[in-house]
Amino acid sequence: MKSENFDIILCGSGMAGLSLAYRALREGVWKNERILIIDRSPKDKNDRTWCFWQRESAESPFQDVIYRSWQNLSCFTNTGRQIVLNRGDFAYNMIRSIDFYRSVQEFLSTCPQVTFRYEEIISVSSQENGGLVETSAGSYRARYIFNSVYKKPELGSSEQYFLQHFKGITIRTDQFQTDPDKMYLMDFRTSQEHGTTFFYVLPINRKEIFIEYTIFSKSLLTKEEYDLKIRAYLKNVLKINEYEILESEFGYIPMTDFEFKRRSGNIINIGTAGGDTRGSSGYTFTNTQKTISKILTSFRKEGHPFSIKENISRKHKLLDATILKVLNNNVYQGHQIFSDLFDRVDGETVFRFLDAESTLRGDLKVMRSLQAKHFIGPFFNVLYNKFM
Ligand SMILES: Cc1cc2nc3c(=O)[nH]c(=O)nc-3n(C[C@H](O)[C@H](O)[C@H](O)COP(=O)(O)OP(=O)(O)OC[C@H]3O[C@@H](n4cnc5c(N)ncnc54)[C@H](O)[C@@H]3O)c2cc1C
Repeated sequence: MKSENFDIILCGSGMAGLSLAYRALREGVWKNERILIIDRSPKDKNDRTWCFWQRESAESPFQDVIYRSWQNLSCFTNTGRQIVLNRGDFAYNMIRSIDFYRSVQEFLSTCPQVTFRYEEIISVSSQENGGLVETSAGSYRARYIFNSVYKKPELGSSEQYFLQHFKGITIRTDQFQTDPDKMYLMDFRTSQEHGTTFFYVLPINRKEIFIEYTIFSKSLLTKEEYDLKIRAYLKNVLKINEYEILESEFGYIPMTDFEFKRRSGNIINIGTAGGDTRGSSGYTFTNTQKTISKILTSFRKEGHPFSIKENISRKHKLLDATILKVLNNNVYQGHQIFSDLFDRVDGETVFRFLDAESTLRGDLKVMRSLQAKHFIGPFFNVLYNKFM
């Protein structure tokens, strides 16, 4: 078994790990450091699609790999009513993971101080002057370790844990009748028997569409159930009977009010493992980039990565926990909550709220749009559980 020393180790080369390595090296924050990136396997498949909203005047660190962008955004209620979102200057962007992996790995291959290893990570621990990673093939030490390997946490009795699970397909068809510049952010025209259930519809062009069936619930469905619901939606809602499936993806992420630890000694957790997944929506891409910006600022100013103020504040975590409790009660159902929200609040305010950037005024707008009677009990219940 080998044993080696580095300055920095990244455990996991998914979205968070690769984003950090790319941005730290590109922005010149890591110059002479020897960096080890460990994953169980190379990232060479288009295994997921990341979407996020962004102001049109802003620039993502991954602007070059944005595959498609939409300005015309709608939702559909469960009864079929369309709500066109007033999006302000926000656009909805899509990145295909394969484009991201290729672009980042190509850049990293030009950095001689970066080493990749494809090994199973068995443990990560903090030690006096650094950290230790043990894998199936050896052990590695470094001053700082950034961990994005996610393990389901052990939950306390009052902590809530939902899964957001998705099956997405890209299809080619001659039967798509809608303007490809119009995307559906949440289309609830599907049955709600398993929990909050909706489709994303992201047209790539007139003939190719990416469709994602998404559920918030406590357990996964069978493979056949996802396929059945997607076929029914294509046929009954989009009126598409003939199509070829070009690609598919499946995955799930936690929606929880568990408090993820950002730091354990010399280990910094990032991405889903670090709590960058928003509890009430599952969106992770933007929060992870914000966390990385803070890590890089901390390195620049302090010479270490530890001065990070969390992006998702306590206030937003409290609201997320309350929303999860309301979803769990299933009286005011998810499709009604989101329909009320998008009906009564402009898209820009909702995006700022979901980005944890809303002002008190914005929060109040969001609150007032929802049926308060269903939130009062859950809110005090969450307060009691968190602070008593
Ligand atoms: C299908 C899907 C679609 C999504 N869509 C969106 C979206 O549109 N917008 C959004 O904001 N978020 C989205 N998310 C949520 C989130 O952005 C992604 O899950 C994102 O990939 C999280 O990044 P990460 O680095 O935390 O985890 P990952 O990208 O999953 O990276 C973790 C890495 O750790 C490796 N690993 C795990 N265990 C071990 C081990 N024991 N040994 C070695 N390596 C290991 C894995 O192979 C993986 O490469 C989506 C998630 C999924 C699953």
